[in-house]
Amino acid sequence: MFGNSFYTDIGLQRTPVGHNDENWLDERLHNRSSRIVPVWRGHNLILGQETPQAIALTGNHARGLLQICGEKAFLGMDGDTAYFAIDLSEHELPVLSPALGQAKFVDLRRVVMMLEPHEAALLAYAKGAMYWHFNNHYCAACGSLADAKLGGRMRQCTNPDCAREHYPRSNPAVIMLVTRPGPDGGACLLGRHGGLPDGMYSTLAGFVEQGESLEQTVAREVMEESGITVTDITYRGSQPWPFPDSLMVGFRARASTVEIDLSNDELEDARWFTRAQIASFSEHGRRLPRADSIGFQLVDEWLKEG
Ligand SMILES: [Zn+2]
Repeated sequence: MFGNSFYTDIGLQRTPVGHNDENWLDERLHNRSSRIVPVWRGHNLILGQETPQAIALTGNHARGLLQICGEKAFLGMDGDTAYFAIDLSEHELPVLSPALGQAKFVDLRRVVMMLEPHEAALLAYAKGAMYWHFNNHYCAACGSLADAKLGGRMRQCTNPDCAREHYPRSNPAVIMLVTRPGPDGGACLLGRHGGLPDGMYSTLAGFVEQGESLEQTVAREVMEESGITVTDITYRGSQPWPFPDSLMVGFRARASTVEIDLSNDELEDARWFTRAQIASFSEHGRRLPRADSIGFQLVDEWLKEG
């Protein structure tokens, strides 16, 4: 089973005593020692390029941004220090620059491999929290405005006849490495859809449909995408994937058929690759999934078994 992967360990206590107390959360938000993690249009605040650092503001810089921010969300406690994400997307960058100093908003995926794992996880959580708020201004049940409550930990419908509470959700998706026995230590099934960068071959993946178990999703998605039937589906680990709001649940599965069928047009290519073929990927302009992804971990685990 995989240990901690990228984006999993924020190093904060998410539900301390007081996390359901509006007054306590408000006091924490405005406490000068609290740390503020700004998000701007899906980007995170980073200082430095060669050795980038995640920035969590405190003191006057944080106070200034709290005055002008949009949504806020309590993330958790590190000892006595509270962490909040705030959204600054409604402002243009020149307005924000005086409070940011040399720090810049960047796409987390550009810098994640150079960050400490807990920093990457914190930024991912902040980004995901702001994404959820951005997409949940209105009650899904009645369409009325839904206000953020409890330090941004939930939203509640403002229509008194409805008053439904909405909590942040992740969308579960499965991601799986399909293998088969054979010469040269067997092979694994990798594919590519049009959205992947040039040359990248990845594990197959797909969203869980209603009424489906995770294992059923694995079998269905592999069949739809490649025409392969699988068995022996085993859980390997999971990873929050805030691009934008998924929980990736990783599996290994064994193929019981060999012939690949792409006639569903879900993938532009899918092939069986031996370990030796993957080792020479770069010579053919191919590459594996991003190293911060559970897809890479699934392949890497199999490669090391050979
Ligand atoms: Zn409502």
